[in-house]
Amino acid sequence: MSSDNSSIHDFDFDLICDYFKTLERQGPGSPEITLKALSFIENLGDDSRIADLGCGTGGQTMVLGQHAKGSITGMDLFPVFIDLFNENAQKLDLHDRVKGIVGSMDSLPFQKEELDLIWSEGAIYNIGFERGLKEWRDYLKTGGYIAVSEASWFTLERPEEIDAFWKDAYPGIDTVSNKVAQVEKAGYIPIATFILPEECWTEHFYTPQVAADENFLKKHAGNKVAEDFIANQRHEAQLYHKYKDYYGYVFYIGKKI
Ligand code: SAH
Repeated sequence: MSSDNSSIHDFDFDLICDYFKTLERQGPGSPEITLKALSFIENLGDDSRIADLGCGTGGQTMVLGQHAKGSITGMDLFPVFIDLFNENAQKLDLHDRVKGIVGSMDSLPFQKEELDLIWSEGAIYNIGFERGLKEWRDYLKTGGYIAVSEASWFTLERPEEIDAFWKDAYPGIDTVSNKVAQVEKAGYIPIATFILPEECWTEHFYTPQVAADENFLKKHAGNKVAEDFIANQRHEAQLYHKYKDYYGYVFYIGKKI
């Protein structure tokens, strides 16, 4: 992200990283839900190879590291997240088995058929659900698992305001049944599908943002881009409270056949 004449986008990314690095998680989720998803994965052993794509600072990866056998590579686009990830692994004494690397999910640094499990919470949307499922499959062993959480509609119809918001933010959002069909079509047995409970958005995601927002606005006082960013975050949280019956995150767990 460094260049002599850094663009507005570089600046935005720096700001966004500066905000999210202060939070334990960069997307909705919780330790309990990570463990629930993990309970569907069979056959992990000490030699297993796991990748957590779009790991952020590693909130969920550390939970995996503490409860799953094998070694885990966390990968994220942003070095500042990966530095914190590796510090967290060190603090928890997981650094022998849990390592963070900088990289992009559209060009994985693994061997074909190397992995036993691909994990990705709230991040596959960056490449697109269907594309991620298809491309990442090559890196899984036959019988290996994929476990991803993804924004999904809970109903066939929904109010216009929330429909328009998501179609702009992520047109790939779809109903749970259509997403399960995409899992099948990409070459996996759909092993489990479950909706993340509300506290994954409230207690674990939006509530910690209240204090983070205040600190961030103080730190970047007078910065219009920072103020707009926080206004957007707050708008998103308000929409969630208003329309949470219509959408949320869903965990999809598949087994490569
Ligand atoms: N899994 C974490 C972070 C989710 S937020 C959690 O649940 O808390 C989405 C993450 O995807 C961010 O950390 C972002 O930096 C990362 N990301 C975005 N585009 C990416 C890409 N092309 N390759 C790898 N990571 C990416």
